[in-house]
Amino acid sequence: MSRRYNEEITQLWARQHAEWDTVRKNYGNLYNALTRTIKVGVNTFVLQYNPERLRSSAANIDAKAISERPCFLCNENQPPEQETVMWEDKYKIQVNPYPIFKRHLTISAVEHTPQLISGRFGDMMRLARDLKDYVVFYNGPHSGASAPDHMHFQAGLRDELPICSELPWLTMRVINSGACFLSYNISSLRPVFYIDTSSLEDGEKYLCELLNFLPQKEGHDEPMVNILCWYDYNSWKIALFPRSKHRPSCYGTNDDQFIISPASVDLGGLIAVAREEDFYRLTFPDVTSILSDVCLNEIEVAKIADNLTNYYTLIKLTNYGTSSPS
Ligand SMILES: [Zn+2]
Repeated sequence: MSRRYNEEITQLWARQHAEWDTVRKNYGNLYNALTRTIKVGVNTFVLQYNPERLRSSAANIDAKAISERPCFLCNENQPPEQETVMWEDKYKIQVNPYPIFKRHLTISAVEHTPQLISGRFGDMMRLARDLKDYVVFYNGPHSGASAPDHMHFQAGLRDELPICSELPWLTMRVINSGACFLSYNISSLRPVFYIDTSSLEDGEKYLCELLNFLPQKEGHDEPMVNILCWYDYNSWKIALFPRSKHRPSCYGTNDDQFIISPASVDLGGLIAVAREEDFYRLTFPDVTSILSDVCLNEIEVAKIADNLTNYYTLIKLTNYGTSSPS
């Protein structure tokens, strides 16, 4: 019988909340955090005033700074209170002590190995199936990961992330359909690719192929991406945001700037704002310009989608040719 991870994690959270002061304090603060909702059309953005996220939004991730700090995902540097639920002896599932979600998990590789998604799509999908109340997300090493030297996913309660309920209802442009449905949308304020499939193998294959069609910057080991994955009605839903840069042009500490460094959760519609004045003055145009600034634009995404459509059409034609009687 397979393990009931969802229940194990609920018990883990209850124990950590009871025994670890930092968790009790930070989840208590989150429960009472100020929020504002901005809704335009089908797009909902929940702004959350969360000063503890400054450590993540303002994290210095240049190679020198990373190499000189102790890795907070390695066992030897973690606080004694931190408990772990192991997943297939490959990942440590732990309560994130600095939450954005009312249940927020860090899922880190057992070994200290760089943040790269290649070869781990299947893990991400199976984690999403095991953690059925959660959305599992991946921030690329140049797209919001605060530990780019240690492979990790995160997960948060799915009901708290607006895009999980919005995306399946958006009008999508189809790239390829069948057992695995690959589509995209360039009108949702931040262009997104979307996969809906009940097949683990197909989902993994399509994600690999999609990644191969994305631009990759010089010196990077993978295209810049944020990926969200959840499991609902016996199928995986996967949203991939192709990125163009790490931080928006308006990032900074001046009065006319914002300390916002978007990653998967922000693109999913839940925006943790670390500075109080930013929380009150952010407008809908600010939010859309911050998110669109760090993503590939509509023209770039439409071009990638065209290339993918041609690729799949060619495969179908080739298969048709080889299976036709001579
Ligand atoms: Zn580490």
